[in-house]
Amino acid sequence: MRVLVVEDERLLAAAVRRSLESEGFSVVLAANGIDGEWQAREQTFDVIVLDVMLPGLSGYEICRRLRASGDTTPILFLTAKDGEYDEADALDIGGDDFMSKPFSPVVLVARLRALLRRAAEGPEPSISVGSLRVDPARQRAWLGEEELRLTAREMALLRYLMHRVDHVVSKTDILEHVWDQAFEGDANVVEVYIGRLRRKLGSRKDLGIDTVRGLGYRLSGRGR
Ligand code: CA
Repeated sequence: MRVLVVEDERLLAAAVRRSLESEGFSVVLAANGIDGEWQAREQTFDVIVLDVMLPGLSGYEICRRLRASGDTTPILFLTAKDGEYDEADALDIGGDDFMSKPFSPVVLVARLRALLRRAAEGPEPSISVGSLRVDPARQRAWLGEEELRLTAREMALLRYLMHRVDHVVSKTDILEHVWDQAFEGDANVVEVYIGRLRRKLGSRKDLGIDTVRGLGYRLSGRGR
């Protein structure tokens, strides 16, 4: 398994390399964002570990550029707890996982193995409700012929609702599955995202997101 590690803190990079190599990974290190992006494009990796704060080019920008060019290599971000970035952003721009510094190299190895396992399982088949269709592997959604522009978080919420079509899901369920269990923000964020999805879906006869008072939300396929 080939891993690209883009990290500018030398000691940390060396420690990560040691742990990964002792687990049988083949490791390429890059110490700045420019070199990191170059390596990612020059070579093929099974997984990429990206520090967020990097000289030259941020980890987020590298990820954005790779995804924009169709590169789907799994990416795990290393985020500084007191950094200027929100960890939730890491997933919104196409990352697959993140770890806050300081972290245990053993946990990093376990998370990378989990990412590789998911990647090996292959793409999920596309799902549809009414005229809405989502291709999870390509993170794209269409209403009929028209493509919807969704952020990664909106996409994750939509997929969660679609997998439970015609069932009521609570805000808590949504927070746990679409955000993560460690989410400590305001639960009203769910309402905000439901509102955004409703606006993007528009008013339609064949589907809609209902509010079920006191219980949660339900994506309904109508007229079936
Ligand atoms: Ca850094």
